[in-house]
Amino acid sequence: MISLSKNLDNTQVVAGIDLGSTTIKVVIYDGSGYIARVVSASYDPAVTASALLASASAEWGLPSPPVFIVTTGYGRRTMKDAAFTPTEIACHAKGASFLLPGCRFVIDIGGQDAKGIRLSPGGNVEDFAMNDKCAAGTGRFLFATGQALGVPVDQLAGYAHGVEPYRINAMCTVFAESEVISLVNQGVERGAIIAGLHASIARRTASMVASLHPIPPIAFTGGVSQNSDIAQKLGEELHQPVIVPRDAIYAGALGAALMAWDHRKTVELKER
Ligand code: ADP
Repeated sequence: MISLSKNLDNTQVVAGIDLGSTTIKVVIYDGSGYIARVVSASYDPAVTASALLASASAEWGLPSPPVFIVTTGYGRRTMKDAAFTPTEIACHAKGASFLLPGCRFVIDIGGQDAKGIRLSPGGNVEDFAMNDKCAAGTGRFLFATGQALGVPVDQLAGYAHGVEPYRINAMCTVFAESEVISLVNQGVERGAIIAGLHASIARRTASMVASLHPIPPIAFTGGVSQNSDIAQKLGEELHQPVIVPRDAIYAGALGAALMAWDHRKTVELKER
């Protein structure tokens, strides 16, 4: 994350907002640097996003939130101030190309869906695959099974690293939860169960993107990219290195901010 220049007004910077199923991410961008902030999603995403945008703007000394705003994610149409509302596919592609220059493939696993996006050498979306029909293999699946094991999501990787995975059969979130509980009762070690869950997510994701023929550099984005054991297992399944760029959780919001920046430049040119 690069700090914004100071003493800018709200027409000189732009904002990208990713209103996800689990978290809301805001990026404020000034053409070279950005700041990024995240909060948990609420029942009223637009209100939560506006509050986060206002606090991030104030934090950086902006007199008011940026005029040019682009929103993406599950709740992208709930914010009235957005200039436009591109898909997460388009935004993650743009954001990942910024964070990992030359990136040719993006794997994004968020709270409620998983996506694979193949990019051209110039960073345009060539093709994509998506699982948004059920929570299996997503952050929600991890959260639910982690809860059943009494382990918060940000500590799951620590239990699983270097542990032989126990083969988990159920992939449906509800059945996996009950399988996990029954394995605990049979005395199977927690680390082995978690490693098994991670392996099943990696297998499932790799098979979802197989038809897209991923090529490196591969960027892993979204909240689940913060789980280093899943990132490692995903790389093993794909037989290719998987890179988690810095600020990977902000890729969608950053892509939206970069689009807002392009939009601002177009508006400026028209006004001249
Ligand atoms: P969305 O964009 O749909 O709101 P996110 O990209 O924010 O989703 O991802 C949310 C998911 O990321 C959570 O459900 C959780 O499982 C996972 N997650 C978030 N932080 C971490 C972390 N530090 N370690 C592992 N997993 C995480």
